[in-house]
Amino acid sequence: MANKLISLAELSRTTQKTLARGASEQLPPGAAPTLQDLTECLLFSPGDGRIWLNGARMLLMHSSGLGALRRELIESMGLARARGIMLRTGYHCGARDAALVKERFPEADTLALFAAGPIIHALEGAVKVEPVHFEFDMNLGTYYGEFLWHHSSEDDEHIAQYGIGTEAACWMQTGYATGYTSAMVGRLILYREVECRSMGANICRLIGKPAEEWDDAEEDLADLNAEPFVGSSPRSTTARNSGDKGALPSTPQPDPAPSQDSDMVGISSSFNAACHMLRRVAPTQATVLFTGESGVGKEMFARMLHRISPRHDAPFVAINCAAIPETLMESELFGVERGAFTGATQSRAGRFERADGGTLFLDEIATLSLVAQGKLLRALQEGEIERVGGSRTLKVDVRVVAATNVDLREAARRGEFREDLFFRLNVFPIHLPPLRERKEDIPLLMTHFLHRFTQRHGRQLSGFTPRTADTLLGYDFPGNIRELQNLVERGVISAPDGGAIDLAHLFTSGERLAQPMFSIGTRGVLATTSDDQPPAGATTEAPTAPSEAIHTLFGGKDPSRLSLQEIEDAMIDHSLAEVKGNVSEAARRLGLTRAQLSYRLSRRPSNE
Ligand SMILES: [Zn+2]
Repeated sequence: MANKLISLAELSRTTQKTLARGASEQLPPGAAPTLQDLTECLLFSPGDGRIWLNGARMLLMHSSGLGALRRELIESMGLARARGIMLRTGYHCGARDAALVKERFPEADTLALFAAGPIIHALEGAVKVEPVHFEFDMNLGTYYGEFLWHHSSEDDEHIAQYGIGTEAACWMQTGYATGYTSAMVGRLILYREVECRSMGANICRLIGKPAEEWDDAEEDLADLNAEPFVGSSPRSTTARNSGDKGALPSTPQPDPAPSQDSDMVGISSSFNAACHMLRRVAPTQATVLFTGESGVGKEMFARMLHRISPRHDAPFVAINCAAIPETLMESELFGVERGAFTGATQSRAGRFERADGGTLFLDEIATLSLVAQGKLLRALQEGEIERVGGSRTLKVDVRVVAATNVDLREAARRGEFREDLFFRLNVFPIHLPPLRERKEDIPLLMTHFLHRFTQRHGRQLSGFTPRTADTLLGYDFPGNIRELQNLVERGVISAPDGGAIDLAHLFTSGERLAQPMFSIGTRGVLATTSDDQPPAGATTEAPTAPSEAIHTLFGGKDPSRLSLQEIEDAMIDHSLAEVKGNVSEAARRLGLTRAQLSYRLSRRPSNE
């Protein structure tokens, strides 16, 4: 327990170190990162065909090339969709740069990190940014920023193609500012160009503030959401053709505001690729197989598929195959006739019958027994079923949608899954990316869940504290969206009214954010993973957020600049210190055998 108190005290000291509010006028001259610091992150490696910005691969391309792409987009899909694509592309770049700057300058204070956005945006050649004024208070969740843009390359290209018009045209740059600031603040900060050269102004003027503070932000939000699905539409009527929109059912939608209650939120390319596929397959009768880790939202996608399909007025019936005992599976799926077996006192329809005319969603399909797989295959092939104990054949019209978090092809190879059923289900597979591969969506999802749960629980909260936002943005979310959703809901309930959600509110006592484990990620930078719940009776530990844990572990040094040996030594020392030198226990925590740890210790120079 004493251990826990000390760690909590340490945590609160860290908060004091983080500057939670500031304004552009307070920035001390020469505060890092400066233009020089940021320029040093840029590395040309010409012989190798690569350009790097601190580990992120960049491209040097013709501004007119982007202008040509822009024109193609506008011509082929209309202004509104083209604008959305450019905006989201910019958002992606801005959010990436924010993550990169935070990672490269972990010691910089928040104000300087905000100020780095315009510098790096200019460094990349899109535009010269002149900050007029910006201010933020992370505890209150407020932000206001006003900037001037000089000689925007996007305006040059737009004006060259289309001349001066009536709407702002720096779409990608506006997206960049939105992405950068949102990733800094941890909630959606929307920017708009209130003046733009493409509207005949001498200079572009940009204003950014939280989405809720703009009038009719729905339009901007629709642009940020690549797939509005039902209930929202692009604001511009200048679209020359409707593109994929034609695939939507033309009947009036029953649900007035589905984007509010659905978690289909995201602008990342991997998420949107999945959305595009969903929209394409929805109007057909094809069987769809959703794959992806637990918690990525497979059922949510299945429900949306049903909702935008021509079957949307008929039932959507879901069954989790892993939750039904094997002996009951057949009667669950196909129903049962009275007297079929002891206890079957009356006839009952199965899920297939109940889904007639609609969609049947089979979650965790890989857990079906081989016998049940055979019966399912027959139902799919023949379009007819027989109740257990019945002799009648019933025709059913059901669209089957399945989901799995295991590799069915591999399971089929091992003989655990019928190959013929796999091919029958795998007509149109849609892979849903894990949250760690769409980190730029985290600020949007944080805002989305915060909004939902403050409403649901009747709470008034200002948002997330900086270190909470930082931790969530840096975390790998092994439990995916479901984990983020649970964390935010818990935070909303635990935080004091009128205050902000802090780390301590996410991890209630008796629980821990899993013992952080460290591994070298694909980028050569330390990444954290975590085991799930602690085993019963495990000692509870202070809620340590991954990024802070790393910070403590390496004495504030940037882990990406340490050698593998230094990292290993630090982890071993840390574990040994935590268990007061107990080698067996330290080995267990490190995932090593005692012998492996002893060997590593014996290789060290003899100062130990
Ligand atoms: Zn402009």
